[in-house]
Amino acid sequence: MKTNVNGRTVELLTGDITKQQTDAIVNAANGTLLGGGGVDGAIHRAAGNNLLTACKSVRQEKLNGEKLPTGEAVITDGFRLPATYVIHTVGPVWSGNHQQRDEQLLADCYWNSLQLAADHQATSVAFPSIATGVYRFPVDLAAQVALTTIARFLRNQNDHDIRYVAMVLFSEQDYDIYQASMEEIKTST
Ligand code: ADP
Repeated sequence: MKTNVNGRTVELLTGDITKQQTDAIVNAANGTLLGGGGVDGAIHRAAGNNLLTACKSVRQEKLNGEKLPTGEAVITDGFRLPATYVIHTVGPVWSGNHQQRDEQLLADCYWNSLQLAADHQATSVAFPSIATGVYRFPVDLAAQVALTTIARFLRNQNDHDIRYVAMVLFSEQDYDIYQASMEEIKTST
C-alpha cells in the first residue's frame, strides 16, 4: 500500500529489510550497538563483520564508549547490504507503565533516523517495525506513532532529498495492522 505525503511516497511492504535497495535501512538496535536477535541480528549477518567493527568505532568515537540512548540514532555504512547506510536506533522497552514517554521515545526513533538520513543526502529510507518484537511495544500503537511521525517529518521538513519511505513489515499480521493505521490517518487528516 502506498500513500503520498507532501509529494513523497510512503509505502507499506511485507518482507525482509536486509534485502531493501533503499539508500538507508534502519536497524532496531540495542544500546550496546553490538548486535542482537531479531532484525538487528539479521542486519549484522547480512552486512558482514565490518558492520560490527563500524558500530564499535561509533561507540568509541561518537558516544565516548557509552551506550546509544533510547530514541537516538547513529549511522554506519551498509557494507554487504544493498543499502548504502544503516541507521541504528534504539526503541523503548514497553512496560505499559509509561505509555506517553514510550510513545515519545518511539517517535524520536523515527524522527531522528529520518533526520540522519536527510543529513546524508539519502533519497530513500526503509524502517522495520521498531520496538514491537523483543521490546513488546503494542503493534497498533507503534503503527500509529511510526506513520504519524513519518508524515509529520515529510510535511514539516522540506530541506532534504528523501522521496520514499518504506515500512517493511515482517508478517502479514503486522502489515494488516499498519495498513489499518494508515487508513485511519488518511481519513482523519
Ligand atoms: P525490538 O527489540 O526493537 O523489539 P526486534 O528485532 O525484536 O526489535 O523486532 C522488531 C520487528 O522486526 C519485529 O516485528 C520483527 O518481527 C521484525 N523483524 C525481524 N527480522 C526482520 C527482518 N529481517 N526484516 C524486517 N523485519 C524484521
